[in-house]
Amino acid sequence: MRPKTKLQEQVLGFSGILPPITLKQLEWGHKHCFDHKGYRTKKGITCLDCGHKFEDIKPSLLATIDGCVCQNCGTKLVVTDTRKLKDRQGAYYGIITSFKGFQVFRIFILQAAYKAGTPVCRKDDEIIQHWISPDGKHEVIAKLRNINWYAENWGGSMEIRDRNSDSYDINPYKIYPGRRVIPEVKRNGFTGNFYNISPQKFFKAVLSNNQAETLLKAFEISLFKECVRDPKRIDKYWASIKICIRNNYPVKDASIYFDYLGFLEYFEKDLRNAKYVCPANLMKEHDRLSNKKFKIERKKREEEKLKKALENEKKFNELKGRFFGIVFSDEVVSVKVLESIREYIQEGKLMHHCVGHSEYYLKPDTLVMTAIADSKHVATIEFSLKTFKIIQCRGVANQKPKFHDRIIDLVNRNAGLIRNRMKSGKNSNKAA
Ligand SMILES: [Zn+2]
Repeated sequence: MRPKTKLQEQVLGFSGILPPITLKQLEWGHKHCFDHKGYRTKKGITCLDCGHKFEDIKPSLLATIDGCVCQNCGTKLVVTDTRKLKDRQGAYYGIITSFKGFQVFRIFILQAAYKAGTPVCRKDDEIIQHWISPDGKHEVIAKLRNINWYAENWGGSMEIRDRNSDSYDINPYKIYPGRRVIPEVKRNGFTGNFYNISPQKFFKAVLSNNQAETLLKAFEISLFKECVRDPKRIDKYWASIKICIRNNYPVKDASIYFDYLGFLEYFEKDLRNAKYVCPANLMKEHDRLSNKKFKIERKKREEEKLKKALENEKKFNELKGRFFGIVFSDEVVSVKVLESIREYIQEGKLMHHCVGHSEYYLKPDTLVMTAIADSKHVATIEFSLKTFKIIQCRGVANQKPKFHDRIIDLVNRNAGLIRNRMKSGKNSNKAA
């Protein structure tokens, strides 16, 4: 991209005169980014770094400590038994520096190709520069990153790229320990620890966001990380967070804490009151309110369902009204047709099955009845209005009910009653 703003022109100009990576920085990167391997065969060990081959003097010891020092280049090697001759490694490597008042984070890609018997072949390439001004404005100068599912490569020249693209938001494997930091970064709380945040995001946050700076200085690290990730969420609850800071209340887990504040909001508690905002046992309070909310919401859902079900009452009456009043019994069991949606829901609750909430009441071709013995509901019967046979007869929790055979027999003997009502189309609430 061509530079479009003054800032972009400025950093592009500075980038052109930025000193190259030093040999010392490069050596450190190659030493710390890669595994240094020794390949062992029966003939001895080959150092993949310098290509030197030497005799395995303490084979049994080596096998246990799994490491040795190359007698030629002095590199500590991790030894493996292998007949392989080649190896390849690559890593992102970062250097933190400052230039003309800007905080700069440079990212290199280091590569190493190894072939037993010859010295390592190394390559280094600068791929990204993050330029961050003292007031937190950010520009990216980088090569073009091409990623597909089997490989990635960096091409083109170092030019202004989209600073919001994830492609350039890389957190390198290692960062060179010698760092140059602009005074504003130190002033805003940086003490050398990035807390696993990529340096570019870290610098940008502490230079541009007062809340991030405050959280970092107050050692509210979990909240600080959240502030880098989602500043809007921190801003929303800033009044409560300030109370935490004032009370030296450490928020160890921001995500649990924000859940908790959400519950406080739900129960309309005062989010500026330390009594609520700084609970002695966050986890316990979180779980307590979470359960309480869950129960309330469940009840609401049930009421909503009932309301919706009752709206179907008219349709239900049209479908099933003609069967209302049907009751038949023997000396032990009596069977009756369910006559309202409430009765269906009640039946489902009593019998611990799904007849109440699976809209059985709107099934046009079946009729649901309940069997009662000794004043207790013992079975729910679904009866086909097409074949005039029982489809299912279930007891509590879908178990085989007490008096099963007796109930089946009773219903079958009275199937004619239902068939007659079906034919007559009688639609009455009166008992037969
Ligand atoms: Zn060596």
